[in-house]
Amino acid sequence: MRHVPIRTCVGCRTTDAQLRLWRAVVDAAGRLHIQTGGPRQAGRGAYVHPEEKCLIAAISRGGFERSFRRKLLLPETAALLALVRGAGAEGSGADAPKQQGPTPA
Ligand SMILES: [Zn+2]
Repeated sequence: MRHVPIRTCVGCRTTDAQLRLWRAVVDAAGRLHIQTGGPRQAGRGAYVHPEEKCLIAAISRGGFERSFRRKLLLPETAALLALVRGAGAEGSGADAPKQQGPTPA
């Protein structure tokens, strides 16, 4: 049985497989970046479902800021929703994550 990393969505506060969540990181300037794919960025991460309701909840209820324990420069809500729609619109058989980095213990 393979170990599946489980993370908590900062939006709806439920747990899910890490692969089903987007990872968010904060840079040195306190700007939040949502990673929808690609190589993992270093640093502390927070996880959120790639869904409008979760992203909106994470921002409006301060879920990201609570998770990172600091004030953040959050992206525009519209920009996040564009990410969600972009991810959903691709759907041409390339929806499975292609690579999966090592998971820290
Ligand atoms: Zn969620």
